[in-house]
Amino acid sequence: PDDANLDAAHPDAALFAALAAEFEARHGSRPAGFWSAPGRVNLIGEHTDYNEGFVLPFAIDRRAVVALGPSAPAGASDVTAPDARPTARVSSTFSEQIVELPLADLTPDALADWSAYPLGVAWALAERAAATSGAAISGTPSGPVLPGFALHIHSDVPIGAGLSSSAAIECATAVALNEFWQLGLDPVELARIGQIAENQAVGAPTGIMDQSASMLGRADAAVFLDCRSMNTESVPLGLHAEDLEILVIDTRVSHDHATGGYASRRASCEAAASAMGARSLRDLTVADLPRMQQVLDDETFRRARHVITENERVEETVRLLETEGPLAIGALLDASHSSMRDDFEISVPELDLAVEVSQASGAVGARMTGGGFGGSALALIRRDSRPALEAAIVEAFRARGFARPDLFVVQPSAGATLKGHLDD
Ligand code: ADP
Ligand code: MG
Repeated sequence: PDDANLDAAHPDAALFAALAAEFEARHGSRPAGFWSAPGRVNLIGEHTDYNEGFVLPFAIDRRAVVALGPSAPAGASDVTAPDARPTARVSSTFSEQIVELPLADLTPDALADWSAYPLGVAWALAERAAATSGAAISGTPSGPVLPGFALHIHSDVPIGAGLSSSAAIECATAVALNEFWQLGLDPVELARIGQIAENQAVGAPTGIMDQSASMLGRADAAVFLDCRSMNTESVPLGLHAEDLEILVIDTRVSHDHATGGYASRRASCEAAASAMGARSLRDLTVADLPRMQQVLDDETFRRARHVITENERVEETVRLLETEGPLAIGALLDASHSSMRDDFEISVPELDLAVEVSQASGAVGARMTGGGFGGSALALIRRDSRPALEAAIVEAFRARGFARPDLFVVQPSAGATLKGHLDD
């Protein structure tokens, strides 16, 4: 690793220099480079991804940045010792802990807590490398052995706010290791690796949306993703031209997808599809709803109705963005929120309040965003309405005795950086 990586003219030069110093303090060597991936806000299309439906998220201007370099093998001071066992070492600005284990011992069961996100990605990538090229973390006689690595994580994506700090870490780790291990996977494959890590190593049964947004985002655009075909389309948002911005209202009610109602919602969707003889709810439309209401119990019916109507709202949002622009999508955002509150029942009083006050204070539209049970709402607002709208939200939360929400504007931004070396 040479310090040409630390190009002083790079906008993140100061951050990279600080992370290189922290990396060296924790891992005893210089990092080989820096890679990053953003969090995301979902504009519309909630709980549709695992139903093979449509989503429309965008990557935001808050990112995880990882510094990565070779690690010294366990029990060997000489990196080139032939029988040394390559190790994975991970650290984060978020905790004091350094987690180290031999690459060969990386299995979902061995991973827990925050390190399951980066190490889950390492495990999923190693499995993938073994399946495609015979490369192995345990050094099978046939294939090359993947080298050990050390990784240090920094992120300014708020944790547990529904902005996918988890996908930011997964995708930053995935692009870094993809290059370090020379695996040559494309962004869609890397998104899938992140999802496998989250599902199997972390144990959260989430869909492919978060990682897709983090990998594929573009400045000033949303990612329209068909979660069945995995076809993606970049949809310009055109916020600037209309003097609009997207305000995030982080309620600071923390969610937990691994243990929350997420899994039960997913199960209801699967039950509804199978009762209708469909492979997934993607195969049903609003025309099927009357028949579904007769067959399904009320709760399962309402869960399915949310997904089916939400898919239609995503497609309509894309159509309106392409034909009329962002001022036209407010009613769809509002309807999405009502559907999540009443049919899917994943909202909480703080999210409902954030949405109601936004709507009453002149927002174009507003909805909770992310998996629900806490986290953030978004409001599509006119730039000049922000001060009054923010004041109204803060006051409404105070009056209800809720914790003060965190309010900030997000910019639709580019996705993960595939190349970490600042000099190329
Ligand atoms: P969300 O993705 O909505 O922010 P999750 O519960 O899915 O919430 O992911 C949050 C978890 O991701 C944290 O509890 C932590 O384990 C991990 N994480 C997030 N940011 C960091 C970070 N900067 N360093 C280490 N781990 C992190
Ligand atoms: Mg998450």
